[in-house]
Parts: sequence; C-alpha cells; structure tokens
Amino acid sequence: MSTFCIGVHDMATGRERRTVALDTVGCKLNQAETELMAKQFADAGYQPVTVTGEADVYILNTCTVTHIADRKCRQRLRLVRRQNPGALIIATGCYAERAHQEIARIAGVDLIAGNKHKPHLVKLVEKTAGPGGPATSDACSGDYIGPRTRAFVKVQDGCNSSCAYCIVPLVRGGESSLPADQIIVEVKHRVSLGYQDVVLTGTKVGSYRYDGVGLAELLQRILSETGVNRLRLSSLQPPEISPVLVALWRDRRLCRHFHLSLQSGSDSVLRRMKRVYTTGEYQRAVSLLREMVPEAAITTDIITGFPGETAAEFEQSYELCRRLDFARIHVFPYSPRSGTGAARLPQPVAASVKRARSERMLALAAAGALSFRWRFLSRKMSVLWEKRAADGVWSGLTENYIKVYTRSDEDLTNQLLPVTVTEMWGDGVWGSTDS
Ligand code: SF4
Repeated sequence: MSTFCIGVHDMATGRERRTVALDTVGCKLNQAETELMAKQFADAGYQPVTVTGEADVYILNTCTVTHIADRKCRQRLRLVRRQNPGALIIATGCYAERAHQEIARIAGVDLIAGNKHKPHLVKLVEKTAGPGGPATSDACSGDYIGPRTRAFVKVQDGCNSSCAYCIVPLVRGGESSLPADQIIVEVKHRVSLGYQDVVLTGTKVGSYRYDGVGLAELLQRILSETGVNRLRLSSLQPPEISPVLVALWRDRRLCRHFHLSLQSGSDSVLRRMKRVYTTGEYQRAVSLLREMVPEAAITTDIITGFPGETAAEFEQSYELCRRLDFARIHVFPYSPRSGTGAARLPQPVAASVKRARSERMLALAAAGALSFRWRFLSRKMSVLWEKRAADGVWSGLTENYIKVYTRSDEDLTNQLLPVTVTEMWGDGVWGSTDS
C-alpha cells in the first residue's frame, strides 16, 4: 500500500493538509458525483489539487460504457501511478463496479470501490491509509477545484429500461431520484460559489420523480427559488418531451440545448435495441422542440454496426440523421459489453464495416455541426467564458452549446458577455466582444 507523503502547510492551523486529486472518465452524472466527492474531501480537511500535479490521494471516477472507456481508465491509472509513486490511488465508478478484477490486475491501484461506496470514500481512504486522519481546516471547507463556471448537480440515478447494448442498468441499478428540496439546496450552493451554469445530470434525467414531483415541477422550482443564470439538462429521451415540459424554455435561463439519443434511425434496429420509441416518435419530439425552441441545438448519439445492422438499415439511419440535421452527433461503433442482451446476439457486422459506417456518420456529423454554426454568423450571442489557452485565446460556450473563441488580455473567466459571431473557427466560431 502507498503511504501519504505530500501535504500542504495550512498557515491558519500550522498543520499539514492532505491533498486530493479527483479525475473523471465518462458522463455528466459521473462528473456530478466527482464534484460531490470533492466537496466531501474538502469538508474533511483535504486540499483539492489538479490532476496534473502531485497529490496524496488520487481518485479516478471510472466509466465502463464501452471497451474504449475501460481502456482509457486503465491507461490513466497506470499513468498516475508512474507520475505519482507516493499517492494512494483509488478507482471508483462504473468500471470499478463492473470489473474490479480487471482493475485489480493494474499494479499500484490501492483501493477499488464501486458506485455504492462513493458517499463513503473519505472513510475508506482513512481506513486504507491507516490511523491519523487529515488535519482539518475550516478554510478549505466546501472548496472545489477548477474554474467555477459550470457545475454538475445529480438529480437522479439508475435506469429501469433494458436497452440491449447498455451496461448501465447493471452497474447503476434501478431508478431513484433525489428530493427536490435537496437539489434546490445543492443548486443554491453552487450559485453561491460563483457557478453560472448548472447542468442537471442523472442516468435518465427525464424519468425524474420524487414524492409526486416530476421533472417539469423540479425545473420550475429551481428557476423560481434559485439565482441560477443558466440551467441545462444532460439528456432526455423522446417520450419525455412534452409541450408542458418544453414550454418552460420560454424562460431564457433554460439553455437551448437538447441531447436526445437516437442510437439508430432504423425502426427494426431500434426494436432489436429494445429502445422505447420509434423513428416517427423521435421525429415528432424533434419537431416539437424546433417549433417551441427555435435555434435550439439538438444533439444525439448514434451506434453504428449494432448486431445484425444491415446495409439498408444503416442507410435508413444515415438518411434520418441527414434530414434531422443535428448540431452534433456522437458516433459509437458498437462494441459488445458482456452481460448485456446484445452481447449474446450473433455479431455479423465486421469491424471494417463498422469503421466505414462510423466514418460516414462522422462526416455527416461534421457537416451538420458546421451548418448549425453558420446560422449564427453575424449574430449577437451570450457567451460564458471558461478558460484561456496558452496562446492567449479564450474559449466559452453559448447557451446553445456553440464553442466560441476570442482574444482578450482581460480575465474573462466566468463572465457572461455578449459577443458578435464574426467567422467559423476550428470546432467553433470566433466572437468579437467589442460591439
Ligand atoms: S435508457 Fe437505455 S441506454 Fe439509457 S441508461 Fe437506460 S438502458 Fe442504458
């Protein structure tokens, strides 16, 4: 087992404070949970530090949604052990839940803790590190690491669906939502820390329900009871899109960005995937969003090469994506996750075919993203500036999720400023803050 070796000298107490670095692979729900863990460690007296520096404790919140996510987690754990030989290294999250034996084979991982252990990680670290807890300091209580621009707040966890390709219900369990009062407190807390943009996350945010309060009522309460400037949802499913819900977007604090996973544009593939909507229902949801929230960015996920996906089924998928003209498409070549229904199906789609289909879909995605950004040329948009790169160029996000770049000598961090879009720029647009 590694021992603690580094500490930050606390001027207020004259004691050493242990440092903790929290790192995340995966979805916005994981990011929200990492933020919660950061708060728990800060409250227990730990000093949060960046993942690129040295730390007494390094925690990786892992993801297992694809084999690529698994590999990324393993690589990151090995790298951290090489760079940080004295740290206590902990793997938690979905990969730790699903395949702790695989992580246990990585030399130098001290502790593997599944999702249910996340709320108790401080205690587990104390137990693993031996007696003598960290020095505590009120000064760091409630501290977070990183720029306070966008916060992730968990509202829900788990999933009662059984999409054939998905490992998530197995590692996250059934649906459960958090009380609205607790979420309001959490959002207010983030606002008081300076966050401008709050993302509500969960495995299936649209199925939020606690004590008779559904997602629409939750959003209404957050808008009326907190001072949040921007509020986003991580993702929704077509059956969850209703006129009552979408009418809430009249409040401009609700960001005009909807992530609506399609997965396939072929009804026969959707049936085999055990998705709960048809392409017709999906298109109706998109039409409603476009009618009621013009200029919204609608983004999606597509799986290529699902077991048995024929050339004709892929063409249907491609054609629907072309017609729906998404602002962004995340393309995933299908990879079997053991324990899922789809992994037990015959796997006739060759890797080369999956690759070719993914490439076509990615080219379509790039064209759609560019044409979406073009619509805003010469327009004035509100940008939340997040960070400055080494070359002095700032980047930030519009409410409809367009990345904007500009050059400024001022510190723009966390400022919400109007900009005029002047040209296309890399994966985003260039904005002028002068006018
Ligand atoms: S809805 Fe389907 S894809 Fe989404 S988490 Fe649940 S099982 Fe997985």
